[in-house]
Amino acid sequence: MSDASKPDSNEVREIRINPVVPGESVLVATARSMRPKKAEELAPRDTRKHVETCPFCRGNEHKTPPAILTWPDTGDWQIRMVENLYPVLGDDRAQAGFTFGLQQTIDGYGRHEVIIDHSEHGIAVQDMAETHLAALFGVYQTRMRQLFDSDERLKYVLVFKNFGPAAGASIPHTHSQVIAMPVVPENVDAEVRNSATHYAKHHHCIFCALIDEALTFEATIYDRNSGAVRRKINVGQYVVERGEKFIAIKPFASRYEWEVHILPLAHQADFLDVRGEDLADLARVMKRTMARLDAVIGGAQYNFFLHSVPHDAQQATHAPSYHWHLEICPRTSIPTGFELGSGLFVNTINPEEAAERLRSVELPAR
Ligand SMILES: [Zn+2]
Ligand SMILES: [Zn+2]
Ligand SMILES: [Zn+2]
Repeated sequence: MSDASKPDSNEVREIRINPVVPGESVLVATARSMRPKKAEELAPRDTRKHVETCPFCRGNEHKTPPAILTWPDTGDWQIRMVENLYPVLGDDRAQAGFTFGLQQTIDGYGRHEVIIDHSEHGIAVQDMAETHLAALFGVYQTRMRQLFDSDERLKYVLVFKNFGPAAGASIPHTHSQVIAMPVVPENVDAEVRNSATHYAKHHHCIFCALIDEALTFEATIYDRNSGAVRRKINVGQYVVERGEKFIAIKPFASRYEWEVHILPLAHQADFLDVRGEDLADLARVMKRTMARLDAVIGGAQYNFFLHSVPHDAQQATHAPSYHWHLEICPRTSIPTGFELGSGLFVNTINPEEAAERLRSVELPAR
């Protein structure tokens, strides 16, 4: 073995189990030779301010279905919500569900809407004003509430954003999407079920425990035979950004290299329970987190999505054990056959190191 191929001492190659959803694991493999995917040159994203032909730009309102709501509600709109022209779920052609042998369907009832996040075409989240971002989170809440109130068949409202072509955004104008559905999505359901099991056993919320660990944990793990230090876990190692009410942390078993989650510091199951005056702090933590990601990655393209307690029959039962959060998943590479075939995510950057790099970005104090 030549020196060049000797593993360096910081090299990590281990399978990490997601503490909330143990069925989901991540292979953290930082060695160059282990890198099964090479970061492709991602298609650049559209950063223009105004595009004459864009249906979401101001002045082209006639090119979209009528607005469901706007912010502010008078004068020039800053945020505008419309129906999706190509909905994945809708109430117009809903068919009754059926069961035949092993084939089973449930009706595709639901809503699919688009929120035009900002009047400026290519603006990134970190460049939006905090007041604007707080208003955007407020629009998410308003619409979620309206949808849940409109039809009791709706169990979940998923709010998400695809930003940049690498994240699957089909329209370059910055926007979020809202999908209301009659079922709870599988990955939310897995979180809800597993956190309820944890609660039954330990009588505390697993997400609160993860926040506590991120903030205060300090440990040295020794090898039982040799006594050598196997791993040191330092205070605040997973914290990326901290506000008064919200925190951004790097998950221990991050599926994506730059994945970051934002959670309320105090236990809260439902995103709808965030008080209006606290949205400013959420906006600030979000803006600063995105600025860190953008600085480290050099132009972040990402998906983010809100995971909140489902509004189903067990909502009240799950309120003490589930903790809403926002998952931000920057896309820096394309999944390989290995990942798709095995269901094992491959992360080539050690999450502790990624958190350190994100934390060390110098941001202007407010
Ligand atoms: Zn536009
Ligand atoms: Zn909690
Ligand atoms: Zn989640």
